[in-house]
Amino acid sequence: MSVEEKLKQGPREGITYPLQVVYCGNCSMPIEYCEYYPEYEKCKHWLEVNLPSEFEKVKIGDDNPVEEEKKRQKRGGKGMIKTKKKEDGPKQVCVSRAPRGKKKSVTVVTGLSSFDIDLKVAAKFFGTKFACGSSVTGDDEIVIQGDVKDDLFDVIPEKWPEIDEDLIEDLGDQKR
Ligand SMILES: [Zn+2]
Repeated sequence: MSVEEKLKQGPREGITYPLQVVYCGNCSMPIEYCEYYPEYEKCKHWLEVNLPSEFEKVKIGDDNPVEEEKKRQKRGGKGMIKTKKKEDGPKQVCVSRAPRGKKKSVTVVTGLSSFDIDLKVAAKFFGTKFACGSSVTGDDEIVIQGDVKDDLFDVIPEKWPEIDEDLIEDLGDQKR
């Protein structure tokens, strides 16, 4: 049916006139408005008892949100927190230099997990790339044995294109 035909007033094919409006016995509104009624659950119950065929339609329309809600609940508060965290803090990787021994420095990389990067894989990659020790040292921290901080601004975006150089924050030198 074309738009013009749809907009045309008057009887349409395939529809039985007069239009039947089904009213809800609980809230006395046409049943399509029940969902806006605060006691929608009661309305649904009324439908289930009195108009099972209409209830089926309502139920089908309702199923998906419920499923979604369940999934969200299964993931627990964690899912919510994670979402919130992402909104609050921008994704960012931080690199800094930390003294190790008298002359040596190590490089500390944090924030890679905000890009869903597997830290073990990342640590191994840095170790291979810089031919030095590299290990996961915290929840979201990798320590690379050597001063490779400046190199990371090239190496990280090259390895993970989603991390733009601008998303890497240079925290400078950590104080002892
Ligand atoms: Zn109702």
